[in-house]
Amino acid sequence: MLLTITTTRYPATDLSYMLHKHPAKLQTIDLPKGQAHIFYPEVSDERCTIAMVVELDPVALVRSSNPQGDAFALEQYVNDRPYAASSFMSAAIAKAFSSAMNGRCKDKPELVDIPMPFEVKLAVVPVRGGEQILKYALEPLGYTVKAERHELDTVFTGWGESRYYTVTLTNTCRLSDLLSHLYVLIPVFDNSKHYWVSDGEVEKLLEKGEGWLATHPAKDMITRRYLKNMSGLTKMALNRLLTEDAPTPDDEHEEPVSEEKIRLHDHRLETVKQELLLTGAKRILDLGCGEGKLLKLLLAEKQFEFILGMDVSLRALEIAKERLNLEKLSSKYRARIELIQSALTYRDQRLCGYDAAALVEVIEHLDESRLQALTGNVFGFARPEYVIITTPNREYNVLFESMPEGKLRHSDHRFEWTRTEFETWANTIAGNHGYTVTFKPVGPLNETLGAPTQMAIFKIVD
Ligand code: SAH
Repeated sequence: MLLTITTTRYPATDLSYMLHKHPAKLQTIDLPKGQAHIFYPEVSDERCTIAMVVELDPVALVRSSNPQGDAFALEQYVNDRPYAASSFMSAAIAKAFSSAMNGRCKDKPELVDIPMPFEVKLAVVPVRGGEQILKYALEPLGYTVKAERHELDTVFTGWGESRYYTVTLTNTCRLSDLLSHLYVLIPVFDNSKHYWVSDGEVEKLLEKGEGWLATHPAKDMITRRYLKNMSGLTKMALNRLLTEDAPTPDDEHEEPVSEEKIRLHDHRLETVKQELLLTGAKRILDLGCGEGKLLKLLLAEKQFEFILGMDVSLRALEIAKERLNLEKLSSKYRARIELIQSALTYRDQRLCGYDAAALVEVIEHLDESRLQALTGNVFGFARPEYVIITTPNREYNVLFESMPEGKLRHSDHRFEWTRTEFETWANTIAGNHGYTVTFKPVGPLNETLGAPTQMAIFKIVD
């Protein structure tokens, strides 16, 4: 079985530093049931590829304490394990690239947090459930998936197709994320494991899935298959993922509660509603809808024929459901609104086909390194005609009397931007994704410091 990882980020040879593998050397590492050979088929500053060939010893596999397959029919000797990417490949990745997978790079530590363009090729991957399972697991993580399915036998074509695929994946992401995704997902596709699955596997899954599994739309399937369909362990892992779920939900999402600030939030929501009305939009997304305050305002406007509220936090969605009285709404209103749990850092097909999206006080809740995923998904993938984003203007903070200097307005805020920072960011996104953008202050305007909230209104270029 063969894995290759290619990057084209200049200088592409950085890949060798990040993987701690010298480009001029063939390295062989021992695995419990075979060996992995690592080398570079191409090395240049423009393009660099590392390859890992995993060779398993079929006889050693049979001599293990827990051989798979039917002993009588010789299946233990003649099977796909030496050739198909499976948990053996994951074990080889973990052994060969453990530093990179844990986000460490001795010589160039600044590289580990940089998303880079990668192309991964895996030959071959057995996939139970076919191409749609590959896509279900990989596309939300931003991968483009190309899967070439192989015939069972090229001579006896009548035997039909096999479950083996040559898979090519492209994505721009951090190397540590890429390796963790492969580590977890390869055995998920295969839906089998070469070793006994115990509680320790739950820890491994949570560790390698940190930052992406808890909110992945396919987390149930991934968890169940990774844990070899053992229901007790699966339940345990899913419960743990649920508590890991999300940023703190919403009751104190705004800055310290003073009357002034409550008024500001209401004013902000009212402003966003007015802007949405002006666009003429009929189908609206409220991304990071929180407890549903904007949803409630929007539902009262007939122009908005359908409103989708989305948030990563289940608890916030529960509160929104109550605030909107969803269960008691008349069918006319009920048909106009839907709430879903999803994460802005994943591609989600359900967000496509809308006229406008609002992100009110949401972006500052994401780490800056995750914002690229958000913009790719909203502006590159869902692509509503209008996007309205509001965020605090940090310059204004000195005017909040109760706020200690240098503090942010809320403990879950990862950053607060000055007007220049926000405008630079928004202009770059608009340029990259084919939108125009205008800016408006929201709230009482101070001549030098601006308004407490800044708002960007993006419109797609026709
Ligand atoms: N828009 C609401 C809530 C703002 S608080 C309002 O103005 O009242 C920020 C919200 O963003 C929270 O509800 C939080 O759960 C949500 N959020 C944070 N990160 C998210 C992500 N990656 N995907 C979706 N929602 C997210």
